[in-house]
Amino acid sequence: MSINAQDYHLAELMLEHTSVGMAIYDAHDMRLLQANTLFLSFFRNYFAALGQEEHKNIIGHTFCDWLTSAQKREMMGIFHTVVETGTPYHGNDFSLPDAHGEPTYWHWSLNPVRDEHGQTGFLVLTVSEVTEQVLARQQAEQAQSALSQTKSLLEAERDRLEVIETVARSVREALSPERISGVAVDAIAEHFHAESVCLHIADPNHRALRLLRSRMQTRRQEAPGTIHYIPYEHMLPGSNAGEPRDPIVVEDIQNAAIVGTIRKEHPLVLGGTRGFICVPLWFRDHFEGTLSATFTTVVHKQGPEVRTLTGCATHLAAALAHARLLTAVESERTRLRDILDQLPEGILIAEISNGTISYANPAAAGILGIPLEELSAFPLHRYSWSQIYRETALDGQPIPPWNFIVIRALCGETIRSKETLVVKPCGSKLVTLASSAPLYSESGIMTGAVIVFQDVTAQKSLEQHKNEFFSIANHELRTPITIIQGFAEILQLAAQNRQLDSLTQYALASISEQSQQLTRLIEEMLDISRLEQAQFTLKRAEHDLVSLVKHVIESHSITTRQHHLHFVLEGLQSADSLISNIDEKRIVQVLNNLINNAIKYSPTGGRIEVGLRYKPDKPDTATIWVKDEGIGIAPAEMPHIFKRFHRARDLDRSMSGFGIGLYLVKEVIGRHGGHIRVDSIEGQGSTFYVTLPLNTQ
Ligand code: ADP
Repeated sequence: MSINAQDYHLAELMLEHTSVGMAIYDAHDMRLLQANTLFLSFFRNYFAALGQEEHKNIIGHTFCDWLTSAQKREMMGIFHTVVETGTPYHGNDFSLPDAHGEPTYWHWSLNPVRDEHGQTGFLVLTVSEVTEQVLARQQAEQAQSALSQTKSLLEAERDRLEVIETVARSVREALSPERISGVAVDAIAEHFHAESVCLHIADPNHRALRLLRSRMQTRRQEAPGTIHYIPYEHMLPGSNAGEPRDPIVVEDIQNAAIVGTIRKEHPLVLGGTRGFICVPLWFRDHFEGTLSATFTTVVHKQGPEVRTLTGCATHLAAALAHARLLTAVESERTRLRDILDQLPEGILIAEISNGTISYANPAAAGILGIPLEELSAFPLHRYSWSQIYRETALDGQPIPPWNFIVIRALCGETIRSKETLVVKPCGSKLVTLASSAPLYSESGIMTGAVIVFQDVTAQKSLEQHKNEFFSIANHELRTPITIIQGFAEILQLAAQNRQLDSLTQYALASISEQSQQLTRLIEEMLDISRLEQAQFTLKRAEHDLVSLVKHVIESHSITTRQHHLHFVLEGLQSADSLISNIDEKRIVQVLNNLINNAIKYSPTGGRIEVGLRYKPDKPDTATIWVKDEGIGIAPAEMPHIFKRFHRARDLDRSMSGFGIGLYLVKEVIGRHGGHIRVDSIEGQGSTFYVTLPLNTQ
């Protein structure tokens, strides 16, 4: 091979200006024969980076002169292989800091130069800077890894949202906590490859958690975290967490066992579990349970698993609370129904929307004589009213049938203890006391009515017997008393012509007075019977109240000596008249009762004022009052004194009476359209006020 000088020069020029560092080695002794400037400067940097002193002239030297023995071995191996095989060698890229310490990257290759016989005589070593490419590749790799990281984050986020959405959907669609917990547990287990997922429900009575639903990996029969009953205190393995609000996360159970925060013998540790999450389920201030999961991998406090379980917790807590409240309402309803079913009173609930009986207790069925199955959902409008109409009288007294009460109740009327008649399908009759009240919805709309029946047939017939007894006894008593009274009067008349000793005179007067008192009492008893049997009627006519009151006072003034009766007129003159449409006998009876009481309950005597008031600004009413200075009435007695047979408790027993006078007074005044009230101070006296209507027919 002959190269002329010009060609040689050009070749050298080319070698100097190429962007690749080039060097030619002798293939036999591996000596550097020639190198271009770029190669030489690369070597300078190389030595500087190695901290070695610079080899001024490397030409004519083998690389063995500056490499370590290991490097030498490696390089010799490469050189020999290339020489022997004639195949080029491409080395790995390597980095070299530049003058400023910044890394630069280089590629090197070793190429054989063969002669015409195929023998390798020279080796060409090239080094080329690939910093830009390497940096670009590194950037691309970084971008790729950031991208795949974002992708996996996104996937985890998608998984998390998917689980939460699945749980939320199941809460919307189903109400049963078993179903909802099943969906939640499955979704979490599948998306996060959890070792176990459990949902425990809180049992506040036992302060423990009861397993509602669990799911575990198939490789396990039952995960170590699956405990059917956990006391609140042992919610977190190895700690006293009580009722925590924040999620309990053990990132690595095995590590926790090493550092001693969890017992080494804990089933989770022994089972090889790594991550543990327990999210408490709170609905407002109520602890509903826990959602927990274990993992065979480590979990992180901010990881998707924790965030997913927390995300589901709100929905699950709401669902559990809903179910809990529903159960509470249901059991309260059952309890109430049980109570109603047991009550001896008949109870009906009638619906306004369709006029049916939506609830009836067994007692109601018994009282009405209609089987319970027929009575519930019983359409009231189909009942045969006509038959009932004909049966509305019991012993001559009109009593409305029970259906009327139901209808009145459905009209919104509140009825208290109203006597009603029940004619059973078999024909037997019952008297019941019925009460009713309308039922309203939360928005205030009337939805129905509740009606309560109490069978009072037995009491009614007892009362009837009592009344019969009273009227017979009255009749039987009245005849002998009339005779006694008659003879006493005859004797008194006969005595007027003879001189009788004072004892006999007193005895005769007493017989007459006491028999009159007895007659009055018998009359009052009869009045009560009449009132109860609705036979008490008034014989009303127009009478002057001024002269009526005056007469009553005069008749009392004759008999009483110890008390001073005063007649007071207000808004009237003594000659005036005040006309009222009254039953004179009854009003006289009222005044007599009040004045007798005033005398009786003022044992030490004193002033008794009987007044009559007329106010022109109230032309429709007149007020009569009887005021005494007697023992007065205790405040606790005041609400009771007008009741039948009521007498003040601490009364001196020498003050005789039955406790029926004021009851009759009230009834008589009430039937006149008036009313009575009393003012009294114990120990100072009482004033009874009777208001009567004027000018009324
Ligand atoms: P009785 O006088 O026969 O007991 P009443 O019905 O007339 O029955 O009165 C009921 C009760 O009211 C009496 O027992 C008495 O305790 C009380 N009472 C009535 N009038 C008076 C009065 N003027 N002063 C004090 N207490 C009275």
